[in-house]
Amino acid sequence: MDSLKNLYRIGYGPSSSHTMGPSNAALRFKEENIDAKKIVVTLYGSLAATGKGHLTDRAIIAIIEPIDCEIIWRPEEFLSHHPNGLKFQSYDEKQNLINEEIVYSIGGGALHYEGEIISYKSFYPYNQMEEIIEYCQKSGKSFWEYVFENEDYDLADYLTKVWQVMKQAVERGLIKEGVLPGGLGLARKAYQYHRKTQIMGKQYKQSGYLYAFSLAVAEENANAGKVVTAPTCGSSGVLPGMLYFLHQDMNLREDEIIKALATAGLVGNLVKHNASISGAEVGCQGEIGTACSMAAAAATQLMGGSIRQIEYAAEIGLEHNLGLTCDPICGLVQIPCIERNAFAVRSAMSAAIFALFSDGTHFVKFDEVVRVMKQTGHDIPSLYKETSVGGLALEFSKRNRAL
Ligand code: SF4
Repeated sequence: MDSLKNLYRIGYGPSSSHTMGPSNAALRFKEENIDAKKIVVTLYGSLAATGKGHLTDRAIIAIIEPIDCEIIWRPEEFLSHHPNGLKFQSYDEKQNLINEEIVYSIGGGALHYEGEIISYKSFYPYNQMEEIIEYCQKSGKSFWEYVFENEDYDLADYLTKVWQVMKQAVERGLIKEGVLPGGLGLARKAYQYHRKTQIMGKQYKQSGYLYAFSLAVAEENANAGKVVTAPTCGSSGVLPGMLYFLHQDMNLREDEIIKALATAGLVGNLVKHNASISGAEVGCQGEIGTACSMAAAAATQLMGGSIRQIEYAAEIGLEHNLGLTCDPICGLVQIPCIERNAFAVRSAMSAAIFALFSDGTHFVKFDEVVRVMKQTGHDIPSLYKETSVGGLALEFSKRNRAL
């Protein structure tokens, strides 16, 4: 498994696969073709289908500038390796092709170049939850200790930075009001939810704060603000919402949050390695489902759960999001994405509490549900995987036509 630094990426929303990944690919191609007079970028499959709403073209053009840039959209055409394909072509002043490169944005901001063998330093000796649990039980270690003993020495510093960016995204999002960009006319909600929670009765406070904190980050993401992929931009509000709530509610130390980020990251990394965190590949279960699982694991650890209870909470978080489709209206990372973050953080808290009530024994293992999620994702038709031609996106386009 790869480093947690490649799971938790710091960058600008609204989409890790549709803006962060393509921006990084554009930057690399521009640097390799600095003398080009024109760069043509062809977007394929899901990247083309939802690229306008996700601001993919704007993100690429902003990087390629001042070189002339043309974007070609091919939503019907899917390249071989992944639904999010891009082709970069550079031309000289006589319109001769100089260079060409195909790259895939495979989720969470990660890239895979055609013809390149996927290779990264494998940081972890075990890639299955059950192997890790066995190791931890034999050695007496926690999940977070397993992470720190395998990663580079500076992981704690990196996770401290991650926590700062998450915290700032919550705090920025809580004070902003107004309509989000994109044309849907969707107003931000975090500010009002926060205010109402402050005056509400005790029994509503936990849900109210969890909703407000996760909405704050999801709305910042929709507004192209700075967030952390956890595991993606679209699902970037779930884990910060949980950590910010527990940080305040339990008066936690920063080092406790960093350890929770390590455990949540391990859970996200297991899904990324053994299945996928890409909405275009497996639907929203890979994004929000994984985020819910990560937040559930973090909360269970912070509330004193055992290794088995943490694994149980992570399993619940993913299992009960199985089959969740990705059908963003107009391709914007707004509906259903923003509310979905709020509901996922609430589910994550329920998963943590449910697991803490148990002794940790349960029937379906985390590794099993990860395999099921992958298979389910591959069985879901592509119209429910970030193409915006099915589900809510289709219904909304019918409503628009009827007006
Ligand atoms: S529906 Fe889920 S997977 Fe699709 S863009 Fe929104 S958050 Fe991402």
